[in-house]
Amino acid sequence: MSLQTSEAIVLRSYNSGEQDKIVVLFTREKGIIKGIAKGARKFVNRFGGSLEPFSHIKIIYYEKETRELVVIKNCELIESFFEIQKDVKVIYYFSYFAELIEEFFPLKSVEELSYRLLISTFKATKGGGDLNLISRYFEMWLLKIYGILPDFSKCMKCRKKIIKKAWLSPKRDGVLCNSCSTLKRILIIPAIHSFIEWARKNPPTATENINFSFEELKLIGNIFQEIIIYHLEKVPKTLSLLK
Ligand SMILES: [Zn+2]
Repeated sequence: MSLQTSEAIVLRSYNSGEQDKIVVLFTREKGIIKGIAKGARKFVNRFGGSLEPFSHIKIIYYEKETRELVVIKNCELIESFFEIQKDVKVIYYFSYFAELIEEFFPLKSVEELSYRLLISTFKATKGGGDLNLISRYFEMWLLKIYGILPDFSKCMKCRKKIIKKAWLSPKRDGVLCNSCSTLKRILIIPAIHSFIEWARKNPPTATENINFSFEELKLIGNIFQEIIIYHLEKVPKTLSLLK
C-alpha cells in the first residue's frame, strides 16, 4: 500500500455503510479515482466540508494496486464553490460538467488538459460569467481534447469551404454543405465558426468583445450535444435536467 498526494476536484459522492462516503474525484495526477472517506458522515469528522461536490482540494490517500477504491486519509480545501451553489442552476450545470468528465474518461487515465478545463470553468462561473456561454466553451474544449470536434469549416464530401448553411453529418464527424447533405437535420449556424475561434484563443473569462445571442448559443449547444450524445450513445442524465 502506498501513500499518495494529489490535487483534485470532487465530481460527486454517495453514502456507504453507516458513516462513510464514497467520493469520485478527478485528480490532476491520476485522472478519475474513487475513494472511501471513513467516518465522513459523522457530525464531527476530519474532512470538514472539503468533500462536498465540486470542491477543489488537496488529498492524501492510500492506494493498493489491486483495489479500485483508494482510502482517503486526509484532505484540505484549496478553493470552494459553495457560495455560488446557492443558485440551483449552478448545481445543475456543474453536475453536467462533472458527468461528462466521468462519462468521457475511464478511471485512472491522466487528463491534465481536461482537469484544467474543469477548474477554469468553475472559476469563470464563480467570477460571474454567463453559464450559457461557459457551458458551450466547456463542451467545445472537451470534444477537442477528446479528438472528436469536427472540422466545421469544410464540407466533408465536396471539400468546399462552408460559407453559409451547412448540416452536421449523420455520423457527427463532420459537416456537409447544403448541396451535399441529404438528411438536413442538424443545422450548423455560421456563428459556430467565430465561437470556436474565440474559444480556441481565450480563457472562458475573456468575454469583453464577444457578443453571441442567447439563440445562437442555444443552437451551438445543440450541435455540440448531438456529438456528445452520439459518442456516448446516450443522453447524459444531467443534460435532460438542464433542458
Ligand atoms: Zn459539399
